Amino acid sequence: MECPTNPICKTTIEQKLKAQKAAKLYRLGSPKLRDLLREKCRIRFKEARRNSHDRMRAINEEGEDQEEIYNEFIEEINKWFAEQQEEEENYFEGGPKMNALICPVCQKGTLVVYLNKDSRYNYRCRCGISFFDKDPEILRSLLAVEIDKHEQFCSKPLIFFVDPLMQQLEGICEACDYFSCL
Ligand SMILES: [Zn+2]
Ligand SMILES: [Zn+2]
Repeated sequence: MECPTNPICKTTIEQKLKAQKAAKLYRLGSPKLRDLLREKCRIRFKEARRNSHDRMRAINEEGEDQEEIYNEFIEEINKWFAEQQEEEENYFEGGPKMNALICPVCQKGTLVVYLNKDSRYNYRCRCGISFFDKDPEILRSLLAVEIDKHEQFCSKPLIFFVDPLMQQLEGICEACDYFSCL
């Protein structure tokens, strides 16, 4: 049986049939094929992990003979779940000194702060907004400064919103055309 050792090589239908034939022989008790089958399995797995569709098909086609594939796949899934969970656990509390930040957009909810892997602060509120900004204490003073600045020449309230493209917080006043990015 020819078995490609080049990992770039795509698994053809012919190769697939050969693998299936090998698997059948193996089931019939030909231990000599074990190594060939393993190699085929390894190549198939490399191919399969390139996209999840192929991956699922690999498991379905190869069945219990390739328990190895299945186990590796489960391992990968578990790893992915662990990473996702880790991200959620990066919820940033800010310690006991930090007072809750009221959402500047809805002015009702409390901002929940997440510290991302790249050390960016992500603020979310139950009103649905999500934006990135500096650390909570800096954001608190930025908000105060902007409100004060605007109040000095305008009596209307400054309105905050999130720029959906930049995911950044911005302040605007329709009465005096005041505008600022926080
Ligand atoms: Zn809100
Ligand atoms: Zn104004």
